[in-house]
Amino acid sequence: MDSRGAEHAVVVGAGMAGLLAAAVASRHHGRVTVVERDVLAGRGDRRGVPQGGQAHDMLARGHQIIEELLPGLTARLEAEGAPRGDAGQNARWIISGGPLPRVHAGLDVLPATRALRESLVRERVAALPGVTVLDGTAVLRPTTGGDGTVVTGVVCEGAEGPFTLDADLVIDTAGRGSRTAAWLQELGYPRPEEERRRIDVNYVTCHYRTPEEAFRGDVSINTMATPETPRGASCQRVEDGRTVLTVYGILGERPPADHDGLLAFTKSLPTGDVHEVIEVSTPVSEPVRYRFPANLRRRYERLEDFPAGLLVLGDSLCSTNPRYGQGMTVAAQSALVLDEHLGRDPRPDPLAFLRDLTARVVDGVWETTIVTDLSYPGVEGERTEEVLWMHHFFLRVLAAAEQDPEVALAVIRACTLVDTFESLAEPGVMAAVERHGGPL
Ligand SMILES: Cc1cc2nc3c(=O)[nH]c(=O)nc-3n(C[C@H](O)[C@H](O)[C@H](O)COP(=O)(O)OP(=O)(O)OC[C@H]3O[C@@H](n4cnc5c(N)ncnc54)[C@H](O)[C@@H]3O)c2cc1C
Repeated sequence: MDSRGAEHAVVVGAGMAGLLAAAVASRHHGRVTVVERDVLAGRGDRRGVPQGGQAHDMLARGHQIIEELLPGLTARLEAEGAPRGDAGQNARWIISGGPLPRVHAGLDVLPATRALRESLVRERVAALPGVTVLDGTAVLRPTTGGDGTVVTGVVCEGAEGPFTLDADLVIDTAGRGSRTAAWLQELGYPRPEEERRRIDVNYVTCHYRTPEEAFRGDVSINTMATPETPRGASCQRVEDGRTVLTVYGILGERPPADHDGLLAFTKSLPTGDVHEVIEVSTPVSEPVRYRFPANLRRRYERLEDFPAGLLVLGDSLCSTNPRYGQGMTVAAQSALVLDEHLGRDPRPDPLAFLRDLTARVVDGVWETTIVTDLSYPGVEGERTEEVLWMHHFFLRVLAAAEQDPEVALAVIRACTLVDTFESLAEPGVMAAVERHGGPL
């Protein structure tokens, strides 16, 4: 298949990062081909996204960006039955053992299964001018020119055997299992440093039918694990009138994967909110396990040399502890950075892109995740004075947030990535924190 064109971008993988990258690439490239290994039929869970069956929170910032890139997606989600609420009024937050007060955040939250959200995004992206989604086709490796210094396309394997897709730009969004680091090595480039930070989160997910009144007008309940109680739960109303419950344990604590055990597990959480819902719910699926061993980051931005025509983003670049629910939002934020770089040059300088993306999106999310994970005594890593100060600071902010709607709003905005975590250090928030608990 000869597809050489003046402006052709190939995106590897049709996960959330790939679809959003394709949406922005279509603004700058005449043709965009999204190559996906899975056969994309219907709206079910699929093999290439094994985590897809677990509850997937879409943080408010991610939702805003997706609506901006694909206007009307909120309405489509609602039409498909995803309940709509306000992130401060209708989402119950239990972050540090106690509930945050209700506060109008002015931020949409529409819980839905990952399968539904992704399929709606995919339908919209596939309908954009110039975009083709080539499913049932695996990317095997890049093709190169100029002695391996320029990526010129990809070798694929579909139902009818291998073929080459020529491209002006290849964007790797193949997820955590991305092969780019190995490909670079095969081309004679150094392998990027890989940072792994063990956290060992064990998930179990089950779907239920729940009487609507059990949620007391809310769309979701998020009970986060704490070092004192290293277990948490995300309980959401989703499309089709279903409830998705995902429970998890940190550092090897394994929740039970049977119905009675799950109910008992919800009773052991710091508040009774999730238990109250599950107690009156009827299971409609079998519990499914998933294990997330470690935060993982590939430091491509530290390389001194990188082939032209190749970019990396999404979980291929950085995959963090999912209990903070950030992955899809980071993919959306990364798409905005990509849009800027493609706007300047449809074939941008890869290292300039990777360094900018790292500084503006990835570093902040990675650092907050690692610092928060380090509050668990069993997590390996150096607890510098700065880390200990941040633990103290977050604890004080969260304690104040449980009493003060203004601080609660700041926390919700930071946790949903609408604002950065640095915004919690703004004078207004700091003053409220000190008012509630004395000098910091
Ligand atoms: C248990 C768990 C729970 C999570 N919960 C949340 C949450 O609540 N909120 C949130 O925002 N994020 C969550 N995440 C993270 C989220 O799933 C990802 O960060 C997000 O989907 C972005 O991933 P991605 O598109 O980069 O990769 P993926 O979603 O992994 O997609 C990669 C795609 O590439 C395809 N592919 C791979 N190799 C090839 C190849 N060689 N050729 C062609 N196609 C290929 C795969 O089939 C797949 O479709 C969770 C993750 C886990 C593990």
